[in-house]
Amino acid sequence: MSAVMITRKVRKWERLPGKNTFCCDGRVMMARQKGVFYLTMFLIMGTCSLFFAFECPYLAVHLSPAIPVFAVLLFLFVMAMLLRTSFSDPGVLPRALPEEAAFIEMEIEAANGNVPAGQRPPPRIRNVQINNQIVKLKYCYTCKIFRPPRASHCSICDNCVDRFDHHCPWVGNCVGKRNYRYFYLFTLSLSLLTIYIFAFDIVHVVMRSVDKGFLNTLQETPGTVLEVLVCFFTLWSVVGLTGFHTYLISLNQTTNEDIKGSWSGKNRVQNPYSHKNIIKNCCEVLCGPAYPSVLDRRGLMPEDSSSALTSFAPSSTSIPAPQTTKTTAPLIPNEHTPDDAKPNIAASAEKTSSHKAKSPPPKEEQPPLPTVPPLASPETDAETSISKDKMY
Ligand SMILES: [Zn+2]
Ligand SMILES: [Zn+2]
Repeated sequence: MSAVMITRKVRKWERLPGKNTFCCDGRVMMARQKGVFYLTMFLIMGTCSLFFAFECPYLAVHLSPAIPVFAVLLFLFVMAMLLRTSFSDPGVLPRALPEEAAFIEMEIEAANGNVPAGQRPPPRIRNVQINNQIVKLKYCYTCKIFRPPRASHCSICDNCVDRFDHHCPWVGNCVGKRNYRYFYLFTLSLSLLTIYIFAFDIVHVVMRSVDKGFLNTLQETPGTVLEVLVCFFTLWSVVGLTGFHTYLISLNQTTNEDIKGSWSGKNRVQNPYSHKNIIKNCCEVLCGPAYPSVLDRRGLMPEDSSSALTSFAPSSTSIPAPQTTKTTAPLIPNEHTPDDAKPNIAASAEKTSSHKAKSPPPKEEQPPLPTVPPLASPETDAETSISKDKMY
């Protein structure tokens, strides 16, 4: 008998750092803690089931058969928006590969010069100009990249997320560039559903009470009291949340920016992303282009470098110490690069290019180029209009 070696193909989601969980072979992506998400599902499905069981049969006969039909449609829409928000990539940015991280470290050290012992190094910040406003790009010590504008690192998912809004435990996922509109539609439709059920609960109790008395009605439909209570307490929070996000959308602002007061007018800093027009802002946030995921979760790992991501993965659970400069950094020199390091870099760049020619990474997997901060992502659309010559 000859032994046959079977090598299992490894998909990229299996090696992704961060604290996300994946189902359905990488098609579904969520945060690790999902307890509150199950509570959300239970509350919505439980309340709607009670409504369909106790109110709908009576209201369909005595008022209109359209009432349960509309309730079912609204319920399905709410669930679709919830699952679309929860199960999708919110806009996670890939981490820098080790050699890219080393090059960025070297660039930073070259730009900062030698910091005397005992003194703190200057903060790792780069400035870019967006619509005549200076916006700071901060360096992420975990992902080893300069974050694109509006991106932030989610401590729960342990990933940088583009146009980070907030981490929502109710939907069990981050809310960011790729799922914000679905999150908003979820809160909006859930508000309508809650108001709808609450209103028809009251109508149902009033109509029955006319014939049979109030107490007899409550005895016949015990679910009604529970529904009214759940809807009453849900109403305030969900409608309030929808109102808050409507306000943010009208300003083209994120929850993260609102909490930090990024565009509060201090130092004459205005929101460079706002069109100064509510309708344009709403159209951009809700009807703008759908951005593809840059993670390529279901792509196959290259066979000869299946450990490329894992070499960086163990550091994902804790913030690693900043790396020291490695003179073997294999990338392209630029104006910050010391002259004496350029020949080494050129030599190692050749090596890298020949290595990459053997197993080129898929296009979507490429992290931001080290010589240019990761801005040239879909962020460079009409409203931001970042030009590369203004970056530094
Ligand atoms: Zn990060
Ligand atoms: Zn998160």
